This record gives sequence, structure tokens and C-alpha cells, in this order.
Amino acid sequence: WWSHVEMGPPDAILGVTEAFKADPNPKKMNLGVGAYRDDQGKPFVLPSVREAERRIVGEKLDKEYAGITGLPDFCNHSIKLALGANSPVITEKRNVTVQAISGTGALRIGSEFLAKYSKSKVIYQPTPTWGNHVPVFKFAGVDVKQYRYYDKNTCGFDEKGALEDIAQIPKGSIILLHACAHNPTGVDPTREQWKKISEVVKKQGLFVFFDMAYQGFASGDVDGDAFAVRYFIEQGHKICLAQSFAKNMGLYGERVGAFTMVCGDAEEAGRVASQIKILIRPMYSNPPIHGARIASRILNDPELKKQWLTDVKGMADRIITMRSQLKDLLKKEGSSRNWQHITDQIGMFCFTGINPQQVEKLIKEHSVYLTKDGRISVAGISSNNVGYLAKALHDVTK
Ligand code: PMP
Repeated sequence: WWSHVEMGPPDAILGVTEAFKADPNPKKMNLGVGAYRDDQGKPFVLPSVREAERRIVGEKLDKEYAGITGLPDFCNHSIKLALGANSPVITEKRNVTVQAISGTGALRIGSEFLAKYSKSKVIYQPTPTWGNHVPVFKFAGVDVKQYRYYDKNTCGFDEKGALEDIAQIPKGSIILLHACAHNPTGVDPTREQWKKISEVVKKQGLFVFFDMAYQGFASGDVDGDAFAVRYFIEQGHKICLAQSFAKNMGLYGERVGAFTMVCGDAEEAGRVASQIKILIRPMYSNPPIHGARIASRILNDPELKKQWLTDVKGMADRIITMRSQLKDLLKKEGSSRNWQHITDQIGMFCFTGINPQQVEKLIKEHSVYLTKDGRISVAGISSNNVGYLAKALHDVTK
């Protein structure tokens, strides 16, 4: 029956983990996968999450279905975290916020809605962008095009290229912006640069799709990381937003996220909400409840929220420390390359700037696993192996 189905390529990121698992070298490092590790290299469950979960389990809650749009409390807290509790969007009830199957599911709900209701069915994405952004939108029926974002020469933001390209985007199109901690480059615009982006986006009358998968993870400050989203709203842009709690609450496998469409008024929000429900119902009927209960409990309880903010900051700070140790150790090894971008870039990932041959050598000769584009997950580095990584990186870039 399926003889016409061709073998597809393996997933670029998950393939790295397969190769890593098969390597017997005890010094091997997996810097491919985007999941936080503690300083012992172990997966980390946040203390705030453990406590929220303990309380929830203790209450012996039932396991009934959530509604199509998920747990209302979760949705309310989620959007308050993104926009700030006093955002006029929330007080004027202009937001449609629905629980989603983590960030990917939120992107998918948004793309399905745009494919059906947006006048333009083209989204412009940064080059490069998270690998899944392309198929998420394409499979939903939204065409994907690019704008310049990353400058290979500086390993930083290509301000000129980005502004030039955005100014050429046909009026009324959709643009994808990473709210903070851009994946895969770790390169974010400064606040001044965000203001310039906002101006051109406004001039072209673009609809903005914000993907915020790392709120709090970039700087350790959840409000600071939401700057771009809040600023764009202040400036009157038309936006929607995908949120993920995979990274900032470490709820990866629980699949906790939210999709929000910001509408013109409450009446429009009512109409949009009704159509989003109609899109979700045949996709997965309604979302899972356990992870959303955890997130909601943390955001609702002042003591748990305080603990969570400390947990997030702890993760962000450990990553920042690893960045500076790696840069210093490369210098100590005698590397004459400029590694400034390691500490300039933020969030979980670092775009090292090494070429595919050097990546190959790093894997083959040093058992350091990473994606072909030279991206490393800084969260996978620890005090025990940062020295080994510096030696290996220096060796392949000499
Ligand atoms: N957007 C970006 C930019 C991401 O890096 C990720 C996670 N890798 C996601 C969305 C969504 O991840 P998840 O579905 O696990 O929340």
C-alpha cells in the first residue's frame, strides 16, 4: 500500500543525540539538544515545579477533560506573564489566549489561523531560524520567505541587512520575530535596534508573529525578556504570540504553552476565539492538564512564583558563567581567534562561527556533538567539561 513512500531524512537535531549515544568515549559531550542541564550535566527539575507538583498531587484532583482552549487560569496567568499584569490588552479583554501543546503547538494553532483568515499567506522568517519554523508554517499552508538577520562576519545581528530586507517586504505580509534569545544564533537586537525594527514593520504594515520560547532564559529577568513584545504592543502593532514553558519552567515533556491573538476590541476577540476553537477541536480536541496546572499554580502563588524567578535566574546565570569560562579558557589555550561573540550572544545557544569541516572534526576527533551549523547548547556545558571543550574548540580552529 505504501510502496510509493520514500525514506525521509532524519531530524537534524535528534540525529545528533543518536550519534552521541552510540559513542563509547567517556569524555563525550552532547551540545546538540536544547535542554537545560545542571552543573553535573543532569536534567534539572526546578524546585518550584517540584513543590507545585507535590501540592497538586496532594490535592487528589480529578482527571476530567479541560475545555478546548485549556485551563482558563493557566491562560490568564500565561498572558499576564508575557504582557505584564496591567497591560491594556488584558484589561480591555482584547486577547484571545488558548492553552497549546507547548511552543510548537502554539505556533501551529497560529499558523492554521493565519492560513485560513490572514489576507496575506506569506510569513517572512529570519535567516537562520529555528528549523521547525519552516515546516510548521508550510504544512499549515503559509508560504515561508526570509529576511537577513545574522551577520557571519561579526557573529552578531545584521542590523543593516535586516532593516533593508524588512523595508522590502510587501505591505500587509506576516513577519516572524523571536521575542528573545534567538534560536539558533543567540543573537538578539538591542532595545534601540528593536525600536528601529518596529518602525519599518509599522511602515510596511506587517502583521507580527512573536515566538517567545525563552522568556526569562535570556537575561534571568522575565519582564526584561518580554521587552520586544510589550514595546510592539505599545506601538500599536497587530501581533500574535506563541509562548512555551518548556525552557523557563523546565516542563519540556509536559508540553505547556499558549497561543495569543491580540485583537482590536473585545467583540473581535470573541469572534476570533470562536474560530480558534473550531481549528483546535479536530486537531487534538483539548490539551493535557497536568503541566498547565503546574505552571498555573506557580504563577498564581506568590511564594512559588518567587521561588520560580530564583530558579530561572539560576539557570540563566549558570549559562552566562559557562559562556565566560569558555571564552577565557579559549584564550588560555592560546587561541588567537576573536571569541567575543560567545559572551555577547545570549540564551541557551551559541553560534560558534565554526565551519562544517571544523564541526565534523569536533565530533570525530573529540566526541563533542553539535549541529552542522556550528550551534552549541551552552546549557550542556558544565564546570567539569568546559576545559575539555575549550581545548577541543581550539584544536579544530587552530
Ligand atoms: N520556538 C523556538 C525558537 C524554539 O527554540 C523552541 C524549542 N526548541 C520552540 C519554539 C518550541 O519548543 P516546544 O514545543 O518544546 O515548546
